[in-house]
Amino acid sequence: MSLKLCPICNSKEYNTIYPPLSDVYGNREIFICQNCFHGWDLNLHVDLNKYYNENYKMVSPPKFSIAFQRITHYLERHYKNKKVKLIDIGSNNGRFLWHLPSDWVLYGIETALQPAEISEKYTNAKILKTPIENVSIDKYGPYDLITSWAVIEHLIDPVSVINGLCNSLKSGGMLCLMTGDRTSLLAKASGLKWIMYRPAGHLHFFSEKSLEYILTLNKMKIIKKYWNTGNVANYNSKLFNLAKQLFNVIYDSTPLTKMNKFDHMYIFSAKQ
Ligand SMILES: [Zn+2]
Repeated sequence: MSLKLCPICNSKEYNTIYPPLSDVYGNREIFICQNCFHGWDLNLHVDLNKYYNENYKMVSPPKFSIAFQRITHYLERHYKNKKVKLIDIGSNNGRFLWHLPSDWVLYGIETALQPAEISEKYTNAKILKTPIENVSIDKYGPYDLITSWAVIEHLIDPVSVINGLCNSLKSGGMLCLMTGDRTSLLAKASGLKWIMYRPAGHLHFFSEKSLEYILTLNKMKIIKKYWNTGNVANYNSKLFNLAKQLFNVIYDSTPLTKMNKFDHMYIFSAKQ
């Protein structure tokens, strides 16, 4: 596929970068928009469904995460005692759903079968096992809250999906997204070796500007925005994971998270 326009802002002004060889899928040629700084690579010929089933065999039960607990506390404060209807897109093994209050009405979407089964076992969420592009979530909506952590960079057409999510929210409903920020200090310092350019499953590389561009077109109001090192602890060393969690706890309580120093970008927005 050869795109003549930025898939986010439709600008014709873009150039290309070539991150180093990453895996069996070969060379990556990533297009970078000069207007919204979005990056994209839609030339990959990867069977994404197979890729996710092979790469997301997280069969362990969901466990406590300080980062997800902190988000849960924020959402509980925001909604007070309201019985919230939430859907988590790309719900994995229920790693976020597991933290949420038991009286909330919970849904998830997860196409990788093993994590989906685990989340059904350990949470009270109903899990839809169809890709977000092929399923109408409105059957169970509209929703007070839609969350999606580290998913939109995997989608072929994230704009259509985000448009659909915004449409599935109640008035005043909130959309909480997390993805990589290629314009963060860490990503800029890493250059072509930025870790998020590597996985074959990443097709889009957002900037703060490109993600806000989509949200603004959907008349969403940004209500919270922060950056950190991410809550995905997937290193082999338990000690390293513990150290990272500890660092995150300290870092996340400082105002530094309001600046895009680290590369995991969280943007919460509300439907007007
Ligand atoms: Zn653009």
